[in-house]
Amino acid sequence: MSDGFGLDHLPYGVFTTRASAPRVGVRFADRVVDVASVRPELDRPTLNDFMALGPEVWSQTRTEIAGLVESDTLPSYAVDDVTLQLPFAVGDYVDFYASLEHASNLGRIFRPDQEPLLPNWRHLPVGYHGRSGTVVVSGTPVVRPCGQRKAPTDDAPVFGPSRRLDIETELGFVIGVGSELGDRIGVDEFAQHVFGVVGVNDWSARDIQSWEYVPLGPFLGKSFATSVSAWVTPLAALAAARADLPAQDPAPLPYLSGTEGWALDIDIEVVLNGEVVSRPPYRGMYWSPAQMLAHLTVNGASTRTGDLFASGTISGAEPETRGSFLELSWGGKEPFAGGHTFLEDGDEVVLRYGAPGAGGGRITLGEVAGRIDPARE
Ligand code: CA
Repeated sequence: MSDGFGLDHLPYGVFTTRASAPRVGVRFADRVVDVASVRPELDRPTLNDFMALGPEVWSQTRTEIAGLVESDTLPSYAVDDVTLQLPFAVGDYVDFYASLEHASNLGRIFRPDQEPLLPNWRHLPVGYHGRSGTVVVSGTPVVRPCGQRKAPTDDAPVFGPSRRLDIETELGFVIGVGSELGDRIGVDEFAQHVFGVVGVNDWSARDIQSWEYVPLGPFLGKSFATSVSAWVTPLAALAAARADLPAQDPAPLPYLSGTEGWALDIDIEVVLNGEVVSRPPYRGMYWSPAQMLAHLTVNGASTRTGDLFASGTISGAEPETRGSFLELSWGGKEPFAGGHTFLEDGDEVVLRYGAPGAGGGRITLGEVAGRIDPARE
């Protein structure tokens, strides 16, 4: 898989070989280029020290690395010969709910007699704080979680392995330069703070979630694992993927307005056991990444290098563009892809992401893969 990893992409990751300590590498074609000699902050086991340096250094280093890669002067390894690590130490993790179609679908599935969107949804990017310590790199197996569940028709809750284990197809944004307690990051300051983009699968146990989430929101139904891609695509590599946001009605409050509130034209494939089962489009997301960050900090909450915020499940208007099994099977009532409803032990899900590249072709963002291991009872 070398397509989409040309000079206009150059995503960053962290790798080890049998003989070496973890350090930063850059993906070019089917090689991992060792960039540890370019800057001391790249000879580190995470991207954090480099990400903290800010956009001027990011830009200079990207240009320098492109030249060194082009002249083939740095050591490199076949991507199949290295082990990819979690690329950054995750600070705080926030997950949003920015797809109008996803939020509407869940409203229709869970509250069929009511208006699908809750009254706040078009006024603010709804989100919650997740668990950063269980963010894992692509390829890490996901153990089926156990927990309490109680269907509305049951008399009492029972404990056991989740029976409604699901995916959430998302995109994540990584903070490079943090902000001080009391300060806000305005919409137009997005690129001063955000280093890059990762693929995200927010694994979700729907039965645990539906019993626990009222009144305080997602908890154990989400916190057992969140997978991210091993490659962080720098924001600069997505310049050609910027797109207009869909119309926002009503107009958002002034703190959610600005010229940097762009959408991203990123196509996604959800692959279940080798078969593409959905193609969610990121481009149609209602809230922009910059609006999400502006909202996250509008109360003065500080941010740190390595903080991650994710978009929420990406679903389009058509059934074949839904980003979760909950929606693809419509609450488990309509099996898809040869009889699937929720995840079975042994199932493997791969999320693949592609976008227009600055060179006129396509870039391939890092994939997010995970296989379901049986519950540990
Ligand atoms: Ca989510």
